[in-house]
Amino acid sequence: MKQRVVYPGSFDPVTYGHIDIIKRAAHMFDEVIVAVASNASKKPLFSLEDRVAMLKKVTRNLKGVSVDSFDCLMVDYVSRKNIKIVIRGLRMISDFEYEFQMALTNRKLNDKIETMFMMPNESYSFVSSKLIKEVAILGANLSEFVPSFVEQKLKKVLQKNK
Ligand code: ADP
Repeated sequence: MKQRVVYPGSFDPVTYGHIDIIKRAAHMFDEVIVAVASNASKKPLFSLEDRVAMLKKVTRNLKGVSVDSFDCLMVDYVSRKNIKIVIRGLRMISDFEYEFQMALTNRKLNDKIETMFMMPNESYSFVSSKLIKEVAILGANLSEFVPSFVEQKLKKVLQKNK
C-alpha cells in the first residue's frame, strides 16, 4: 500500500526550512501533499493563491510531492483524503510545546491520525517565515532563508503594503 502523508502549514511564505522537510518526507513516503491552510484569522501576508503558487514552483521537480489547500479543520481535511499521517517540522525545543499541544488536540479530534515530527538540517533550524517577514521589512538580504523568487515577491508585497 502506498504511504501517503500531509504536510500542513501556513507557508507564509515557504522557506528553505520547509523545503528541507518536504524533501526529507519525499524520501520516506510515496506521496507528500503539502497542504496550505487558508488561515484567514492569522492574517497572512500572502494570499492563499500566492502561497500555493510559490510552493508549486519550489516542488515542481520533486517526485511524489503535490500542493493543495484547505479551509477547514486540518484533521477533517486529512481524513477526507484517507490519509493517516501528518508531518510537522520541529526546529528547536521552543517549537515543541506548541506542536505537542497541537498534536494532542488533533489526536482528541481524530485519534486515527498520527503526527510525525521531522527535524530540518541544523542550518535551517532557526529559519521562520515570521522572522523573515520582519527582517525583510528592514531590507535584509534573504538569500540564506528563501529562494530568490520568494525574496523578490516578499519585497514587492512589502513595498505595496507600505
Ligand atoms: P504554522 O502551520 O504554525 O503556521 P508554518 O507554515 O510556518 O507553521 O510551518 C509549517 C510546519 O513547518 C510547522 O510544523 C513548522 O514548525 C515547520 N517549520 C517551519 N519552519 C521550519 C524550518 N525552518 N525547519 C523545519 N520546520 C519548519
